[in-house]
Amino acid sequence: MVFTKFLEKIALLARLSVKERKLLSTPDHVWKAVLTVNGKKYPAYRIQFNNARGPYKGGVRYHPEVTEEEVTDLAFWMTLKTAVADLPFGGGKGGVEVDPKELSGGELEELSRAYIRAFYKHLGPEVDIPAPDVYTTPQIMAWMRDEYEKLTGKAAPAVITGKPLENGGSKVRDIATALGGVYILEELLRQVSINTKTVAIQGFGNAGYNAAKFLHKQGYVVVAVSDSKGGIYKQEGIVPEKVWEIKEKEGRLGCYDVGTGSSINEIKKDGSCKIISNEDLLELPVDILIPAALGGVITKENAGNVKAKIILELANGPTTAEADEILHKKGILVIPDILANSGGVTVSYFEWVQNLRHESWDEKTVQEKLQKKITDAFRLLWKEFKKKDQSLRTTAYIFAIRKILEAEKNRGRI
Ligand code: NAD
Repeated sequence: MVFTKFLEKIALLARLSVKERKLLSTPDHVWKAVLTVNGKKYPAYRIQFNNARGPYKGGVRYHPEVTEEEVTDLAFWMTLKTAVADLPFGGGKGGVEVDPKELSGGELEELSRAYIRAFYKHLGPEVDIPAPDVYTTPQIMAWMRDEYEKLTGKAAPAVITGKPLENGGSKVRDIATALGGVYILEELLRQVSINTKTVAIQGFGNAGYNAAKFLHKQGYVVVAVSDSKGGIYKQEGIVPEKVWEIKEKEGRLGCYDVGTGSSINEIKKDGSCKIISNEDLLELPVDILIPAALGGVITKENAGNVKAKIILELANGPTTAEADEILHKKGILVIPDILANSGGVTVSYFEWVQNLRHESWDEKTVQEKLQKKITDAFRLLWKEFKKKDQSLRTTAYIFAIRKILEAEKNRGRI
C-alpha cells in the first residue's frame, strides 16, 4: 500500500508512538463483496478507515484497476483530507473493479443498486456517507440513495452526497473540486509570484475539465490536456470548451484551428498543435501541472523530468512517496491532494448539512462558503509550512494526523 510509506516517514518526523502508528495504519473496517450483474462478477469494496472526527466519508470508484489496496490508500487519504479541510468527518472509500464503459445503462444501474445492497448495513447519514469518484456520477448517487431508502424504508437524503439537484444535491457540487483547487492556486500565487501562468492538465473529466475552464477564464494559458486515450499540446493555449466539443464528436481529444475549426490532421501539419501521450504531458515545460486523473502517475522514474514550478494535485494520490522526495529536492511546490482536491468533499459536507437541515442554499452562498473554508485551510497550512524545511505534503500530513490523534485521545481510544 502506498500510504504506509508516507506514514512511516511522518511517524518518524512527528515522533508517533507504536500505538499511534498502529492505529493510523489499520482501517477500522474492510467490507468486501462480489456483485453479480447479468452473470458477470465484479469485486467490490467499502473501506472505513477512521471515524474519530465524525462519520466515515468518501467516494465510490468504478474502474477496471480498482483493488483493495488502492481503496485502502484512498480511505486513509480521505481521513487526512477531512481533517485538513476541517470537516466533521472521518475517512472511508469504496470501489468496484469494473469498466463502466462496457456496461449498458441498465447494467450500470443494477451494479450501483447491488453495491448498496451489499453494504447498506454499514452506511447511513451518521455512519458512512459515500459520494462520487472516478466514473461514478450524480445519476449513480441517485440510484444508490433510492436503493438505500428502499432497504431501510426511510427517506435519507444525507446518506450520500454528489446527488443530482432534484434529488437533494447541492449547487456547486458538480464543479467544487476544480473550483476549490483554483481558489487554492490563486491564494498560493498571492504568496509566491510567477511570471507566466502556463498550465498542463492530465485528465479531462469532472476535475480536469472544470479546472481547465476556470483557469482559462481567469487568464491562465492551458497549453496541454489529456484523457485516457492521450492528450494534446498547443503552445498558444487551448479553449477547453472547444476541445470538449471535439471529444464529444470524435471520441477523443483533438486539436482545432481557432479560425476555421479544422480537423486534427490538418492542424498537425503546421505543428502548432500536437498529439502527445499522458507521459509527455507530465514532463512539459509549464508553470503549473495539474494531475486530475488517476493515482501513481508521478513516480521516481519521471519525477526528475518534471519541469513545472507548481503541482496542484486534483487527482487522489498522483505522486508516489519516492517521487515526492525528488520533487521537494527540486524545489517544486506540490499542493497535496488532501488539500488541493478537498473542494469536492467540502461541498459534499455542505450538501449533507443542507439535507439534514432540510435547506437549499443558493449558488453564491455555497461558492462563498467554499472559498472561505478552503482558503482558511490553505492559509493555516501555509503558515506551518513557512516555519519548517519540509514539503507542504509533509506539513499537511502531520497537521492532519495530530488532529485525528487528538480526537482519538479525547475519546479515550488511545
Ligand atoms: P472523471 O471520471 O470525471 O474523469 C476522469 C478523467 O481521467 C477522464 O477524462 C478520463 O479519460 C481520464 N483518465 C482515465 N484514465 C486515465 C489515464 N490512464 N491517463 C490519463 N487520463 C485518464 O473523474 P474525476 O471526478 O474528474 O476524478 C479525477 C481524479 O480526481 C481522481 O483521482 C479522483 O479521485 C479525484 N477527485 C475527484 C473529485 C470529484 O469531486 N470529482 C474529488 C476529489 C478527488
